[in-house]
Amino acid sequence: RQQKAKAHAHDLAKTNDGHHIEVVANIGNVKDAVEAVKHGAEGVGLLRSEFLYLDQATEPNEDQQAQVYTEIADALGSDKPLIVRTLDVGGDKPLPYLPMPAEENPFLGERGIRIGLNRPSMLKRQVRAILRAHGHAKLKIMFPMIATLPELKAAKQLVQEEAADLGISGVEVGIMVEVPSTAVLSEHFAAEADFFSIGTNDLTQYALAMDRGHPKLGWQVDALDPAVLRLIKLTVDGANKHGKWVGVCGGAASDLLAVPVLIGLGITELSCSVPAIPEVKELIRNSSLAECQALAEQVLQQPDADAVRALLQQQ
Ligand code: PEP
Ligand code: MG
Repeated sequence: RQQKAKAHAHDLAKTNDGHHIEVVANIGNVKDAVEAVKHGAEGVGLLRSEFLYLDQATEPNEDQQAQVYTEIADALGSDKPLIVRTLDVGGDKPLPYLPMPAEENPFLGERGIRIGLNRPSMLKRQVRAILRAHGHAKLKIMFPMIATLPELKAAKQLVQEEAADLGISGVEVGIMVEVPSTAVLSEHFAAEADFFSIGTNDLTQYALAMDRGHPKLGWQVDALDPAVLRLIKLTVDGANKHGKWVGVCGGAASDLLAVPVLIGLGITELSCSVPAIPEVKELIRNSSLAECQALAEQVLQQPDADAVRALLQQQ
């Protein structure tokens, strides 16, 4: 199957009953963007912008950032989506020039969008730099770790102000769904956001209250836990009420066991690690939406992740 997957890497991924699932890439820099296109990515579903900030002595200025985003957009081309996630540090990812007091619970502390909202001038610099790549690709901005609606409204307002200032329109604004509160209140977030991308890594960590990198607990942090799958379903149901699309950019999007379940739950975009793209596309071509939906209904009824995995392995 690997051979066939490679040969068809650049074909669209349509289920055998005719539904297109957009397969895009998770990337971290320009080199990844080039590789993603080579592997058949239809665009980028998650640019982790941290790479621009980590391993630097000082914050990159607006021009430096704009140059990198533009280079990445050019590597994709003006017809391909590029979703840039704003800086997602804190918790496990400290920044040398961003003094943060030590926290007792860093994963429940100042991380993701909270960092930007507490430092609006820094977020503004990044948002302006991202907006300046508009036109070089189908640019979209995505906020990490959104947990409450006021956070989304504040971040969105900042984008609207900067876009107006730069005379740019038509840039979509979406959010990561990686905190259970956001999945539960999905329909309210969907009224404000243009799209959702589910970060199954953090969503699982926060749903199960288990540190995803914990040496003893990490292995149990399984995105196929039915509690997580039900949160994904809630997210899709809420989004559909407002006609918004939902993608997945966490590790589950690259897990061949999870992909049919995600499609069955109504996910229409999968943002995968670059090497996984050809096989994920091939798997989609060999699946039907109707079968995936039946499978999703079954897995939602399972009591735990082991039961879900056992059921999926029988397929
Ligand atoms: C996630 O949490 O699933 C995600 C994609 O974000 P990151 O892994 O960068 O935290
Ligand atoms: Mg995350």
